Amino acid sequence: MTRLADLNNEALSALAEQLEQELELVSGNRLSLDLTRGKPDAEQLDLSNGLEAAIGGNYIASDGTDTRNYGGLRGIPEARELGAEIMEVPAEQIICWGNSSLSLMYLSVDLLMESGIWGDARRWGATDAPKLLTPVPGYDRHFVLTERLGLGMINVAMNDAGPDMDAVCKLVGDDASIKGIWCVPKYSNPTGCTYSDEVVARIAELPDVAAADDFVVLWDNAYAVHDFQFPRRPLANLLELAERAGTADNVLLFASTSKITHASGGLGFVAGSPATLNALEARLSASSVGPDKVNQLRHARFLGGRVEEHMANHAAIVKPKFEAVQQVLDQELSDLDIATWTKPEGGYFVSLDVRPGLAGTIGKLAADIGLALTPPGATFPYKDDPQDRNLRIAPTFAKLEDIKTAMEVLVLCVKIATIRDEISKR
Ligand code: PLP
Repeated sequence: MTRLADLNNEALSALAEQLEQELELVSGNRLSLDLTRGKPDAEQLDLSNGLEAAIGGNYIASDGTDTRNYGGLRGIPEARELGAEIMEVPAEQIICWGNSSLSLMYLSVDLLMESGIWGDARRWGATDAPKLLTPVPGYDRHFVLTERLGLGMINVAMNDAGPDMDAVCKLVGDDASIKGIWCVPKYSNPTGCTYSDEVVARIAELPDVAAADDFVVLWDNAYAVHDFQFPRRPLANLLELAERAGTADNVLLFASTSKITHASGGLGFVAGSPATLNALEARLSASSVGPDKVNQLRHARFLGGRVEEHMANHAAIVKPKFEAVQQVLDQELSDLDIATWTKPEGGYFVSLDVRPGLAGTIGKLAADIGLALTPPGATFPYKDDPQDRNLRIAPTFAKLEDIKTAMEVLVLCVKIATIRDEISKR
């Protein structure tokens, strides 16, 4: 296929007709395909079935704690060591809690709004209309959480090496109602980009640059170890840089084992400075007498010291699915000037940008013939993609054969919608 701009109206209509026939043929097979689910498939979950045997009747942690009993708000030592292996921060600066980093993020933002984390009068809720910066496209649940807790959101562009830091610095320097920034620094959801060293260094300094004296970096490192190649790709160490910059009380780091072991039965981690961890621990102790330390012990015994080896087994399952996505996109769209997409080397998503105004149309076209895509707009706050152009592709859960078919259908939808648009604009 040649570039659309080089085709006259007649050739364009003929091409649209041919592609529509192709789509009709495919959809005649009654499709039920789904590229929405950013979760591990059963084969990945099976990699961690060894968790079950890891307790083997011995419930005692390395420090003598009986994990069956109450207490241990920060988590048992070996679980915090496991957190350290994943997050690359000292175990003493980690709380291991619950099964979900998202719930730790919720708790942290809630605490920042309600009473702050510094033991002084600073709290976000005291400001009129507090807001967070949201690099876009981004993770939909960050947006839902932020809105739910009463904060506004201001979009900044996500570039190949992280958020547009010139824009970020200007915004936070000018407006004291901007209280923080969401970051997914490695294999970001959904673009798959990893923040460059320069971007991480500038983020570590943001609390100093910010007009707000209670600015916090929310560092959601959900895909810290989810590489496709090993040794794993390095990421500059935010906590170390923040300590050097004197901003360590204003960064909170999150991770979990959700996409390492069993997504619903894993461990959540939050890391920060001694002062902020104290505040978080006090908040946790108001709601629980302690976390599930049996699960912590199980995870530490199963995974401790072999995270990279385990993640290489995930990569062997996940990487071919990402390659299938790239293969179809490269083959079908690379010669056309109608879409761009990311080529992540890890994580769970590929981000596809189509011509402005067409993502919704493509989503509908795909849904009509049985291909489910993450609802267009979901990668932006308030589900509002101002240019209506971003689509998120989540290839992990579907079967490899289905991914190939789903991608072929998706590119047909992209081509048809774009040609129809081109015709309507001539
Ligand atoms: N953060 C990001 C960026 C994610 O993509 C996800 C899940 O898709 C989560 C957090 C959820 O993490 P958890 O299962 O630890 O709550």
